[in-house]
Amino acid sequence: MTFFENSAWQGHESIHHFHDPHSGLKAIIAIHSTALGPAAGGCRMWPYDNEAEATRDVLRLSRGMTYKNAMAGLPLGGGKAVILSGIEPPADDLFTVFGRCVESLDGRYVTAEDVGVTMENMRQVKQVTDFVAGLPSKDGSAGGDPSPWTADGVFLGIRAAVQHRMGKTSMDGLKVAVQGIGKVGYDLCRQLHSAGVELVISDVNEQRLQRAREDFGAHVVAPEQIVFQEVDVLSPCAMGSILDADSIPDIKAVVIGGAANNQLATEEDGQRLTDRNILYAPDYVINGGGIISVSMEYMGDRSAADVHTQIAHIPLRLDKIFAAASKQQKPTNVIADIMAEALVAEGASDLPVSQQ
Ligand code: NAD
Repeated sequence: MTFFENSAWQGHESIHHFHDPHSGLKAIIAIHSTALGPAAGGCRMWPYDNEAEATRDVLRLSRGMTYKNAMAGLPLGGGKAVILSGIEPPADDLFTVFGRCVESLDGRYVTAEDVGVTMENMRQVKQVTDFVAGLPSKDGSAGGDPSPWTADGVFLGIRAAVQHRMGKTSMDGLKVAVQGIGKVGYDLCRQLHSAGVELVISDVNEQRLQRAREDFGAHVVAPEQIVFQEVDVLSPCAMGSILDADSIPDIKAVVIGGAANNQLATEEDGQRLTDRNILYAPDYVINGGGIISVSMEYMGDRSAADVHTQIAHIPLRLDKIFAAASKQQKPTNVIADIMAEALVAEGASDLPVSQQ
């Protein structure tokens, strides 16, 4: 099979490989689509086992960004970057070198932080390119760390899914299992706790677990048990592909909604969830809060209030997806893909920010 026949290519416009022996940078930037605007998506730094794994990850994530940005109503296409990290700590200039790689694409790709990358790293990128967002913001302005905005959208999305599947308008007394108490997971737990939710959590980082246990009275379970807890809602906020043919039969939650990208191992897993009457909030719709904030920062002159307004559309879009899925008897992930592909084909995202 040739590279172009590989299904992982999935309609990408271009894929760029960068290697700088001096800093040790090895990065891949995938541009899935610029139909709606510059391809925007975060940069992930991860100790991939090999280049094939990194390529698979970046391709799947960049395609997801096209769909996410379209469904979030943003005038942006989809792209993603991965940096292959090694055992050594990163070189001091790693992110300036990465910034030059971004600059070389002449605005076709706009970067921001993702897993393993910080706002400080993005500040280094900014020294050499303007095609970057997710930088420290002034009080009241859009931007900064996207994670709290992502958590806001996930919270609102879970509430909408609970109402649709369980007929409950209040979260008080519900039980939610959160996998991954990182930047998004912790903030989501805070909001769920305030809403009267009983929390079950897991993480591979003991310090994070302890903090959430103390702050929210959360019950801690082992990482391999979190998906199978006796709860109303499962919220995956760690890494992807946790919903598959092996895990789905034993899930007890009736709603799934979380921040992690690519929660379904394969598209067919959406049907498996539907067959079990588990309502799945498509990941790239429910976790769009961060990119909404990042894009408003990038476009300039937007306030935090504007970001809130736009994030409030997330539960409305989910309602549309849930209603269409019920009516057409199709899984929610399939409905979301159909909607996103239609928006990209029309060359218009859902609710253009400029018309807000
Ligand atoms: P993070 O790195 O801050 O947190 C991830 C947490 O998951 C960490 O605490 C880590 O220890 C934990 N973890 C890793 N493997 C685990 C396992 N097997 N079981 C339990 N916990 C495990 O990342 P984040 O920014 O909070 O993002 C979480 C997820 O949401 C990622 O998949 C990310 O791509 C996605 N996402 C994040 C944003 C954002 O704004 N940060 C936006 C959209 C999507």
